[in-house]
Amino acid sequence: MSNTVVKIENLVKRYKELVALDHFNLSIEEGEILGLLGPNGSGKTTTINCLLSLLSYDKGNIEVFGKEIKPDSYDIKQNIGVVFQNVAVFESLTVYENIDYFCGLYIKDKTLRKQYVEEAINFVELNDYKKFLPKKLSGGLLRRLNIACGIAHKPKLIIMDEPTVAVDPQSRNKILEGIKELNRQGSTIIYTSHYMEEVEEICSRIVIMDKGKNLAVGTSNELKKLIKNTENIYMNVASLNETQLNEIKALPHFYDVSYTNSDLNIKCNGGQNNLIRLIAYLQDNNIPFSNVHSKLPTLNDVFLEITGKELRD
Ligand code: ADP
Ligand code: MG
Repeated sequence: MSNTVVKIENLVKRYKELVALDHFNLSIEEGEILGLLGPNGSGKTTTINCLLSLLSYDKGNIEVFGKEIKPDSYDIKQNIGVVFQNVAVFESLTVYENIDYFCGLYIKDKTLRKQYVEEAINFVELNDYKKFLPKKLSGGLLRRLNIACGIAHKPKLIIMDEPTVAVDPQSRNKILEGIKELNRQGSTIIYTSHYMEEVEEICSRIVIMDKGKNLAVGTSNELKKLIKNTENIYMNVASLNETQLNEIKALPHFYDVSYTNSDLNIKCNGGQNNLIRLIAYLQDNNIPFSNVHSKLPTLNDVFLEITGKELRD
């Protein structure tokens, strides 16, 4: 029996005339790392803020741990850890004091709290920086402090809103590894990002959202099976005439062929030997080519096919 940790039904949130969430639905089971993937402005942070009852909304229902969440649902909130998109720490407190403060909001027992704070510091590897003030930390270290503050009390549900934006690759990898570890230790995770590679790397299930709507849900592989695109071929071809281009377009499984400035891009729907067939055609017609690539679809291709635009701008 799985336990539903979060259930969002038909959530509508307007900022004046702007509809930020448009009948948004989301359900999360215990043990998941749920990725909320969408471009900037798609409504990820608004979803999180409604979920935490920090924002009022116009319509819909939100349940966390099986109960409706309200602004004063402290019993529920005690079991949630949040890492906000904008770093939220006290500038006048040291690394240690910041983590201790946030942990102390939930953990009253001093001995236990000390243990939890130390564990959080170890976890984000800030041992050498305990006495530093936030302004002395690099961007990546500050993000790690922000995370430690959100997770030190060992919440059952952890929400991370774009924790890796503007973070150096080393800190980024530590953050992603850390999220997987928190999940192994038993926390359910909601992870928002506009980076598809990250979401693919760590999430057990992914929600693709745009314009406040849940467009598709599934594992990375399931999402890729939703679309007709199965392969993308790219190569450099110095010259192709109109007839040749039309003959290429007529090859089986080539449903979208574009050719500009020597760049030949082909989208395929099915078929096993698309690249071989294309190369055979080019060779038969003595057409030189170079820089050959064949790629499986990415989550960007899924997004592109569903919305008609790129995930990344
Ligand atoms: P994301 O986190 O996916 O980038 P947001 O939830 O921040 O998206 O924003 C969703 C939409 O709501 C965007 O169009 C954004 O401009 C708008 N929005 C967000 N916060 C506010 C606000 N406080 N007032 C007015 N509009 C807002
Ligand atoms: Mg956001």
